[in-house]
Amino acid sequence: MRRKLIAGNWKMNGSQAANDALVQAVLAGLPAGACDVAVCPPALYVPQVHGLLQAQNAVALGAQDVSAHETGAYTGDVSAAMLKEFGVRYAIVGHSERRQYQHEGDELVAIKAQRLLAAGITPIVCVGESLAEREAGQTEAVVKRQLAAVTHLNGKCVSEIVVAYEPVWAIGTGKTATPEQAQAVHAALRAQLAVAVADAGKVRILYGGSMNAGNAAELLAQPDIDGGLIGGAALKAPDFLSIIGAAT
Ligand code: PEP
Repeated sequence: MRRKLIAGNWKMNGSQAANDALVQAVLAGLPAGACDVAVCPPALYVPQVHGLLQAQNAVALGAQDVSAHETGAYTGDVSAAMLKEFGVRYAIVGHSERRQYQHEGDELVAIKAQRLLAAGITPIVCVGESLAEREAGQTEAVVKRQLAAVTHLNGKCVSEIVVAYEPVWAIGTGKTATPEQAQAVHAALRAQLAVAVADAGKVRILYGGSMNAGNAAELLAQPDIDGGLIGGAALKAPDFLSIIGAAT
């Protein structure tokens, strides 16, 4: 009932030539009847990738962040309306790298999600615990607090979001949560959504954290894992395509 979504987070990688080659290879290799697919290039490359994708519907365009403000004197920011103008359909908010390096907190993440929803863009809201928090038995409390900020602020619109569970200790480290560990957190998030929003059954919960061609099928077979947010493996077309194949 929930279509799987595989979203590639390119992070601060790419060049015009590399983006062109990657997008062409992904489009050429997509399996028939593929699951939903999105790619999230750096903001500067959004117009380029929009141009590369626009003749087709199989791969959607995403962004990695958005301003918390609507318009005005916010040097360096990119607004939700600007993303929308370039065909952006998804935008990541609350990625752990932004929480860590840009000190973004739950409230700011919720406001960013609100800006996106108002512009008709689907927020991919990232939640996830650090290794210390997992070892202290705080995993559920942390991810529930992070998700509650968004559901609280965005009320009825929240069934329009995508959630990504990304344990911080698994991102870019080659360490993946086991399917059982991931499923347990996804089930807890699903239960939280069921209380917080009508239509919670519609909300896709992606797993992210060193998902790759070798482990995707097992993770995606879990009942509450509705796709993946893919970092490193999204930069290589064959790897990204085999994850898409596992979700299709
Ligand atoms: C991410 O940054 O969202 C991510 C999941 O990265 P990786 O797949 O490289 O762990």
